[in-house]
Amino acid sequence: MSLSALDREQYLNQLGSETFDILVVGGGITGAGIALDAASRGLKVALVEKGDFACGTSSRSTKLIHGGLRYLKQLEFGIVRETGQERAILYKNAPHIVYPEKMLLPIIKGGSLGKKSTSLGLLVYDLLAGVERKERRYMLDKTETLKAEPLLREEILKGGGMYIEYRSDDARLVIEVLKSAKNLGALIINYAKVSELKYDEKGQVSGAKVLDERNGRTVEVNALKVINAAGPWVDNLRQADKSLKNKRLHLTKGVHIVVSKEKLPIQQAVYFDVPADKRMVFAIPRNEVVYVGTTDTTYKGSTDECFATKEDVEYILSAANYIFPTVKLKPSDVVSTWAGLRPLIHEDGKSPSDLSRKDEIFISDSGLISMAGGKLTGFRKMAERAVDTALKQLSTSHGYTFKPCVTAKLSISGGDIQGYPSVGAYETALVTEYPKFPGKEIMSLVRKYGSNARKILDAATEKEGCDKLLKSEVAYAINEEMCYTLSDFIVRRSGRMYFERPSLQSIYPVIQNQFTETLHLSSEQAAADLKEFMKEYYGVMAFCEKNLAKVDLA
Ligand code: FAD
Repeated sequence: MSLSALDREQYLNQLGSETFDILVVGGGITGAGIALDAASRGLKVALVEKGDFACGTSSRSTKLIHGGLRYLKQLEFGIVRETGQERAILYKNAPHIVYPEKMLLPIIKGGSLGKKSTSLGLLVYDLLAGVERKERRYMLDKTETLKAEPLLREEILKGGGMYIEYRSDDARLVIEVLKSAKNLGALIINYAKVSELKYDEKGQVSGAKVLDERNGRTVEVNALKVINAAGPWVDNLRQADKSLKNKRLHLTKGVHIVVSKEKLPIQQAVYFDVPADKRMVFAIPRNEVVYVGTTDTTYKGSTDECFATKEDVEYILSAANYIFPTVKLKPSDVVSTWAGLRPLIHEDGKSPSDLSRKDEIFISDSGLISMAGGKLTGFRKMAERAVDTALKQLSTSHGYTFKPCVTAKLSISGGDIQGYPSVGAYETALVTEYPKFPGKEIMSLVRKYGSNARKILDAATEKEGCDKLLKSEVAYAINEEMCYTLSDFIVRRSGRMYFERPSLQSIYPVIQNQFTETLHLSSEQAAADLKEFMKEYYGVMAFCEKNLAKVDLA
């Protein structure tokens, strides 16, 4: 069952004509996980997302599936254990988008951890997270640390710890989870905004009015339960439900910058101290670039438009220049950025970095279930808790039989590479099978689409002319991933805005043509799409004034 942009009318008609067990509001990782969990327990579920899938925080994270070493410092052992176990499950179920990455933790004078505490901390981390023996941490002396990473500032270095984290692509993870939910019968629609909640005569939430942001029509949706998974917007819906009492969100902003590997040629990922404020920052290589972040500052601006500022970029550059003193990064070396909002739960007197990342469920008097906080890594377990809550209520109110969660054993779309011992072996097999296409491009497709890469390769084999792979990738995104715009494709389906921005000028016209042809866009629609794309294209560089002007113009 495909998630096709061309079937929008049919999806909207279905949304308005059936009664759902659960309506999920929000197509980030929290909502996607809930839709998958609910569908896999046999519930009738619909999910609506006001923008594109993953357009909120879930495309703007550090893109790590991690046990959260920093939470050890805050003594949040429960989070470390749970996220560690989740990491292992996700690695099994979605091996194409979750893979191990060596991470170096340098121990420096004046840093937050000493040699003994790092060694013990990393060991506890490995044990709590159930890390396999061969992947467990090992400690390095100063000479070994410098050998592993010659760019480190030598005079403050005391040694290091090497451990394993898992790298991912947050937006792709969301899309793959949504496609899996769709395969199990969930109705999934993007550009569909809950504008109002609906209530029955007893004042209980009974659905929502949903605005189709592409065509302007409103659909009334009936649902026995509504789960609010709106991330940074969770409190907006609670406010509309008149249940925004006691606990509320505290949004903090996190920025990453991207530079070319030539400018920051690190040997592996590094997780380093920023002595000035005792925070820790990641530098993570990815293909031809390295991304560095993040910041963590209280955010009070617009939730819909959040960009990296000059101050954010300067903070990250100075942290990188301190630990890697010879690289001397400048603002002009930055090729892209992204900024995301953490939907954390407010605690009086705590600084942004000290706020807990734990998830919580709020149930209002009207029955609205809201889920806030949490991590990308823990999304499966969060979904289990949310669906358990809804299903227990449905068993009391409507006599439903409680069924336990089954997602730990569910392969996620693209993750089914059975018959191959690893993703690497699968890549090698495809490279041999499709000799017409460059191996590097095939491997990049597998790391985005897993076993679905074969569909793109087959379609490209049948095409004539140039840019066959790119055109087939766009067609796949439209036909199977409900992709409507240049930005949907360039930012979230393929990650190119962040990791390949310098090459976009030459390829975006090909992508745009494909959209115009397949979606039958009028010239006005195509122009509006291009304008939106340009806003994002310059927006990621808005920390620099000349680009800020272009964002305003676009
Ligand atoms: P979102 O992704 O924001 O999704 C909510 C969605 O709801 C949005 O798409 C929005 O458009 C939609 N919505 C809102 N209102 C409506 C409405 N009325 N109708 C319909 N739809 C609506 N976690 C990790 O595990 N690993 C990391 O490395 C990591 N790094 C991070 C780094 C940064 C800088 C940040 C900010 C977070 C990081 N996190 C990380 C945390 C993780 O990214 C978030 O916990 C997670 O993405 C939140 O997902 P969400 O689905 O709750 O919110």
